[in-house]
Amino acid sequence: MIQDIEPKIFDNEFRQKEAGSQSKIILFSERMVLIKRNQDNTLHLPEYGELFLKDVAKVSVEKKEYQYIFSIDSDEYFLKKFTGREEQLWEIEGYSWENISGLRQMESKEICFAVMGAFQLYEWYRNNRFCGRCGREMIHSKEQRMLFCRECKNTVFPKVAPAVIVGVVHQDKILMSKYAGREYKKYALLAGFVEFGETAEQTVQREVMEEVGLKVKHIKYYKSQPWGVDSNLLLGYFAELDGDGEITLDQEELASADWFSREMMPAHNDGISLTREMMGFFEQKEAFQRWYREGAG
Ligand SMILES: [Zn+2]
Repeated sequence: MIQDIEPKIFDNEFRQKEAGSQSKIILFSERMVLIKRNQDNTLHLPEYGELFLKDVAKVSVEKKEYQYIFSIDSDEYFLKKFTGREEQLWEIEGYSWENISGLRQMESKEICFAVMGAFQLYEWYRNNRFCGRCGREMIHSKEQRMLFCRECKNTVFPKVAPAVIVGVVHQDKILMSKYAGREYKKYALLAGFVEFGETAEQTVQREVMEEVGLKVKHIKYYKSQPWGVDSNLLLGYFAELDGDGEITLDQEELASADWFSREMMPAHNDGISLTREMMGFFEQKEAFQRWYREGAG
């Protein structure tokens, strides 16, 4: 999955740091990021030192405008602070603006992971410039990743929105679906946000009922994945069809949903998403069956 970057180590500890010449600079404008794509399809983020090259960069070089966010091994990543001004499409020669939804590839997995994580923080900072309770400007804590209001003492931590992904299985088949009206056109598993007051297991049952009209049992947790472009923490579950397998499609959400045998599955593990990893796990018949039999609730 995209977060599996071993032997490299992702270090998200909050620190106060100044950018150095080798620091990786992540510049966003809405859902676009400034990035260089090399001929071999690897990705490269601009370094702080590059911003100084005359006639190359049209980006501010003020150190205080850059905020340390995390490291991957010795690479330190910095985000340009959101000031509330109209954002400019900065230019750096050799780099171009790419939509972050398109950045999910194996060649530079840790860069894609870093950009997604940085985007989650970028959204959080720009959505919380002012206190939601009293309207004053929020202060950035120097001790932790937290914003606070001097006036009313309101505190705000980064937003993480839990959502479930569900692999519904029935004998030797798995349910795969396509979303209606979304950018992502490939086959996926059922998915949905955890709602207020709900357990993740209840979300699994509700989403499967809402999207395809089926009941499930033996819900078993598999793995999770941070998905920063939507501030999600994805929780992967497998569940078994309970009763009749007749699908009633929610046509607002889904374009199609069908049962696929292992031989007929149209999508496989891509090494990036939890959804695809779960498909790949289901394909390993014996390993999957052994795991699923162990203590499914
Ligand atoms: Zn306040």
